Amino acid sequence: MRFALALLLCLTLPAHAEGFLTRLLNKPVPGGVAVIDLGNDANAPRARYDGKPVLVVREDDQRWIAIVGIPLTVKAGQQSLDIDGQSSSFRVAPRTYREQRITLKNKRQVNPNPDDLKRIQRELDEQTQAYRQFSPRQPSNLLFDKPVNGPLSSPFGLRRFFNGEERNSHSGLDFAAKAGTPIKAPAAGKVILTGNYFFNGNTVFVDHGQGLISMFCHLSQIGVKVGDELSRGAVLGKVGSSGRATGPHLHWNVSLNDARVDPSIFIGAFKP
Ligand SMILES: [Zn+2]
Repeated sequence: MRFALALLLCLTLPAHAEGFLTRLLNKPVPGGVAVIDLGNDANAPRARYDGKPVLVVREDDQRWIAIVGIPLTVKAGQQSLDIDGQSSSFRVAPRTYREQRITLKNKRQVNPNPDDLKRIQRELDEQTQAYRQFSPRQPSNLLFDKPVNGPLSSPFGLRRFFNGEERNSHSGLDFAAKAGTPIKAPAAGKVILTGNYFFNGNTVFVDHGQGLISMFCHLSQIGVKVGDELSRGAVLGKVGSSGRATGPHLHWNVSLNDARVDPSIFIGAFKP
């Protein structure tokens, strides 16, 4: 009976068509996003990746999908996702990232002194905690608006060498824009952290819901405070060059399940 029913379902239901969100977001590469179909149960399944809760939304009011952030450090190959306690695997394809060489006059920003290193560690801990927050809200939109109106400059994932020394890869996407240009929330969210950091300068973190978190760096002015609820398009600050920056620009990070991923995916500008 069960077999007959399964057969009937196979005959009557062709493989479901990929919805808009899957087509937009499914870029399963290191530093990318994997969209995993979770079926059409009445209740949302719970998904975890690398022990961390994952964003789950309904696509086209029908099927549940998990939207998984893949850290830049993950190697191409099989990865596993925990869905309500069951393991399910997905494949990560390779992606090559280019190198970028930057010259900084301020040598302390390349080789910080011991006091700087203490400050940097403290700030890193604070920012990592913000990235690990997981609030139950549904993101207002997953096709993000661009936070500033300006051309994309440095892409995500560049392997960076400062004054010839390799440092962390570029964790976000840069927009070229004049100092003072207003920065707008790409989706609704809550301000969960602001600060003036050694590398990132004046910075704002916005929680869009379920581990989807934006960070905006190098601001000349922060226009919000922790706890503020921002609607989509609300101004949160102004473009500047505070912190480790060679000139005014916006650096924008997008994080999913505590993995920094390529923001270009969310504005439909991803190039494989
Ligand atoms: Zn940047």
